[in-house]
Amino acid sequence: MLAYYGLFALQHRGQESAGIVASESGAPAFNAHKGMGLVSQVFQPRDLERLKGNRAIGHVRYSTTGSSNLKNAQPFVVDTARGRLAIAHNGNLVNAAALRAELEERGSIFQTTVDSEIVLHLLAQPASNGGGISSLRRLEGAFSIVLMTEREIIGFRDPHGFRPLCLGKLDGAYVLASESCAFDLIHAEFIRDVEPGEVLIIDENGLRSEWPFPKHRSSFCIFEHVYFARPDSNIGGTNVSMARVNMGRELARLHPAEADLVVPVPDSGIFAALGFSEETGIPYYPAFVRNHYIGRTFIQPTQMIRDFNVRVKLNLIRSAVEGKRVVVVDDSIVRGTTARSRVVNLRENGATEVHMRISCPPHKHACYYGIDFPDPEKLLANQCTAEEIRKYLGADSIGYLDVEGMVRSTGKPANEFCMACFNGDYPVPFDEKFDKLIMEKRGAKARLLEPPSERLL
Ligand code: AMP
Repeated sequence: MLAYYGLFALQHRGQESAGIVASESGAPAFNAHKGMGLVSQVFQPRDLERLKGNRAIGHVRYSTTGSSNLKNAQPFVVDTARGRLAIAHNGNLVNAAALRAELEERGSIFQTTVDSEIVLHLLAQPASNGGGISSLRRLEGAFSIVLMTEREIIGFRDPHGFRPLCLGKLDGAYVLASESCAFDLIHAEFIRDVEPGEVLIIDENGLRSEWPFPKHRSSFCIFEHVYFARPDSNIGGTNVSMARVNMGRELARLHPAEADLVVPVPDSGIFAALGFSEETGIPYYPAFVRNHYIGRTFIQPTQMIRDFNVRVKLNLIRSAVEGKRVVVVDDSIVRGTTARSRVVNLRENGATEVHMRISCPPHKHACYYGIDFPDPEKLLANQCTAEEIRKYLGADSIGYLDVEGMVRSTGKPANEFCMACFNGDYPVPFDEKFDKLIMEKRGAKARLLEPPSERLL
């Protein structure tokens, strides 16, 4: 039940599928339930009743490798010579293709197309073949993982610490979650972040750490602070919402604007817009109103309701923006679709000027460590200069935060972060075959999502 609640708090990290595996400590029965969709859709009361046991791990999937189907939903369970194992993985392995080929050659039979399954097969190898915890050394890339064995819960982060993972305590028992907001929901006490490279083993005797990985510099994904993590989470001692307010303040100092109103793009731009407003003294007004209750819509795009899908999600308060010079703030521009439609909305509703402000630097490079960006040709800032972007969006001005201001906002030094999507500096080299896999997937997804070839400019 606690895992179920925890997954609700982490739903923003993945909406494709959800799953929980529960078991009684020391017993071989692992009870699993997984399904496609949101946590609220996947688990019915009877499913939760069947998840018996005193321990559980859960997962919400946001796919970056492997296709989107139930087979690839996590946690995975496998039977091995070392007993039963279940895994939930956040991140991306960058040497997945090579490891998989090697394991298949040695007789491993894979059930899924997801890189996470490789971890199970590695661990399951006999000790003589380099299996067990020390085998984790073979993994490269981004992995924050929780594993359940018949006697232990094991949580670990890759030695660069790309993705978050934290430790809490509830009624004398330890809990692990990607973000601290999950602990708030279940009234668990936050203890600390799991360290990059740390393997935490929790069993009846308590907690112990192992450090099987070679030491590396920390490369925490700065985009977690910008966009991905929930604002009520604390990561590395920094509250995410406060880092975002700081980003808005920095942005206002770098690219001030003469305007009457600061309007956030909900929900992603809210805290940065607040910071922008605080710094400039320009009033904050949440003029875009979001409908939180729509779920999936099945409305056919007929002529009359062509823009229903957009309008049902977001409406603009005309009387708030009419005749006003507006600064509109969002956290990031990927393909530019969101920003462009927000500028159109504002103009249609009578805004006299629209100044677009973005609380991170331009996204120019792909992410191989677990954030799903399209391939670089589809990233607006990879293809266009700031002036071309301004024109494409139809804005009066555009301003992005710079790397220095973004880093300062977190209160941490620059060398603790991965900023590859902004500066192309990749902390871990990636396997070209993996690269090809991810690109194929991105191509397929882009074809599904995008309107037929709209020229950027
Ligand atoms: P786009 O419309 O393609 O420019 O996407 C920009 C919007 O998507 C912004 O409002 C961001 O908050 C949000 N966003 C940024 N990165 C991601 C991501 N990796 N996955 C989903 N949404 C994102």
